[in-house]
Amino acid sequence: MSWHAVEAHRPADELDGEVELAVCGAIVQIWGTQDWDRVSAGRSACAECRQRTAPALRSVG
Ligand SMILES: [Zn+2]
Repeated sequence: MSWHAVEAHRPADELDGEVELAVCGAIVQIWGTQDWDRVSAGRSACAECRQRTAPALRSVG
């Protein structure tokens, strides 16, 4: 299972279960309760989302 990056403009708890548009253009459903500690960048990530969010991820550290 791969993940996509989504530009969220609402609180995560509000987005839980919602369908949003990912940065690569894919339609994805958001699960706010997901344990993100187990999601490592670069592994099973959508290649296009990873490429488009790479600069932002770097600036955050
Ligand atoms: Zn994607």
